[in-house]
Amino acid sequence: MERKQFDLGDIVQMKKPHPCGTNEWEVIRMGMDIRIKCVHCKHSVLIPRLEFEKKMKKVLRSAAAGDAESGGAS
Ligand SMILES: [Zn+2]
Repeated sequence: MERKQFDLGDIVQMKKPHPCGTNEWEVIRMGMDIRIKCVHCKHSVLIPRLEFEKKMKKVLRSAAAGDAESGGAS
């Protein structure tokens, strides 16, 4: 099993979108619990790390690595 990689400032996609219709969340706090903020309505939620890893679908944009995943998307 591969562990999900994510970092502070990353924009992630969850399995379930926020009720506001956006499915982009910014990681704003790392620790035992992860705090993510909806990029659209700025609502933030605190989720236990394990639960976050289960609910997170993928990292859309990495704050540190830039565009490492796919070349030439822009
Ligand atoms: Zn929202």
